[in-house]
Amino acid sequence: MKIAVLPGDGIGTEIVDQAVRVLKAMDLKFEMEFAPVGGTAYESHGHPLPESTLKLAQNCDAILFGAVGDWKYDQLERQFRPEQAILGLRKHLGLFANFRPAICYEELVGASSLKPELISGLDILIIRELTGDIYFGQPRGRRIAVDGHFPGAEEAFDTMRYSKPEIERIAHVAFQAARKRSKKVTSVDKANVLETFQFWKDVVTEVHAQYPDVELDHMYVDNAAMQLVRAPKKLDVVVTGNMFGDILSDEAAMLTGSIGMLPSASLNDKQVGLYEPSHGSAPDIAGKGVANPLATILSAAMMLRFSLNQAEAALRIESAVKKVLASGLRTPDIWSVGTQKVGTKEMGDAVVAALAVQ
Ligand code: NAD
Repeated sequence: MKIAVLPGDGIGTEIVDQAVRVLKAMDLKFEMEFAPVGGTAYESHGHPLPESTLKLAQNCDAILFGAVGDWKYDQLERQFRPEQAILGLRKHLGLFANFRPAICYEELVGASSLKPELISGLDILIIRELTGDIYFGQPRGRRIAVDGHFPGAEEAFDTMRYSKPEIERIAHVAFQAARKRSKKVTSVDKANVLETFQFWKDVVTEVHAQYPDVELDHMYVDNAAMQLVRAPKKLDVVVTGNMFGDILSDEAAMLTGSIGMLPSASLNDKQVGLYEPSHGSAPDIAGKGVANPLATILSAAMMLRFSLNQAEAALRIESAVKKVLASGLRTPDIWSVGTQKVGTKEMGDAVVAALAVQ
C-alpha cells in the first residue's frame, strides 16, 4: 500500500505533519511519498499540479491532502492558480463521490451556533456528486442575448446536466453507505423546477429498487437547507448533486462549530481516494502553529477505512481524538472557557499519546 502525501500551502504543511505522525504511530504497513501541490508546486515547478505529482497520485492507493491556496496567487491566470490542482486530481482520478461527515463531538456541543439539544449526538453523512452538474456542463460562457427579458444585452450562462450513469453510480454509493449506518437515505433535488433534478429523482428511485432494506425519501434543496438548521438529527445519509452538495455540506459543517474538525473523502470507483480536511489553507493563521490538525487526522482515519481496508485502525484514531477532546485540550478555534488552549503540535502530541495507551 502506498500513500501520496501532498501538504500544499498555508497551514497544509503544519496539519499534514501531525496526521503523518499519527499514521506512523499506528505501526501499519504502508509507504508514504511526499510531493508538492498548489502554490508551493507553482513556485517550484511552474504548475500547481506538476506531472510528477499527478503521476505519484495515479500510482498510489490513497492521497492525503492538506490544503492549497493563498491570496497572493489570485492574480495568476486561472490554470496556474493553486485550486486548479484539486480540480485536476478529481478529474484525472475520476473522484466522483465526495463524503463529508458532519459529526458533533459531545465536548464541542457548545461551539455550535445552534441550541445544544438540536445538535448533541449529530452524525450526518453528506454524499456529494463531484464531477458533474452545472460546475462542469457545457456550453457555458458569455454572449449577447438573442431572447429572454433583455435581448441584445450581455449575458452569462452555464449548463446543468447529469447523465443516467453519473446519477446511478452516486446513488449506489449512497445506498451502500446507508447500509453501514441507519439504512436511510435522503436524496436532495429541485425536481419541482429543474428538468435535470426530476431526472435525478427518477434515477435515484430506480436504483433504490435494488436496496429494499434501505429507506429512501426525497427533499427539495430549499427544504433541506431549512431542515439542516431546524432538525438536523432527522437526516442521516444525504445524497445530492455537485452544486447543492457544495452548499449543504458547508452548512452542515458549521452545525458542528468548527471547520477545523471536519474530514472529507473523495473516492473513485476503485476506492482510491483523496482525503483532506474540509477547510482551506487558512493563510491568516499559517505559520503560527495554532491551526487545528484534527480534521486532517480524522481524514487520515477515513483513508484507512475507505482506501486501505483498515477499519479497526481508523476507529483507534477516532477514539484517540475523542479522548483528547474529553481531556479538555483545544486549539484556539474550538477553545472555550474552562478548557486548555494548545497549538497544532501539542494537539498532534496528545493524539499520538492517546493512541499509545489504548
Ligand atoms: P479557509 O477554510 O482557509 O479559512 C476560513 C477561516 O477558518 C479562517 O479564519 C481560518 O483561519 C479558519 N480555519 C480554517 N481551517 C482552520 C483550522 N484547521 N484551524 C483553525 N482555523 C481554521 O477559507 P478561506 O479563508 O476562504 O480560504 C483561504 C484559501 O484556501 C483560499 O486561497 C482558498 O481558495 C483556499 N481553499 C482551499 C481549499 C482546499 O484546499 N480544498 C478549500 C477551501 C479554500
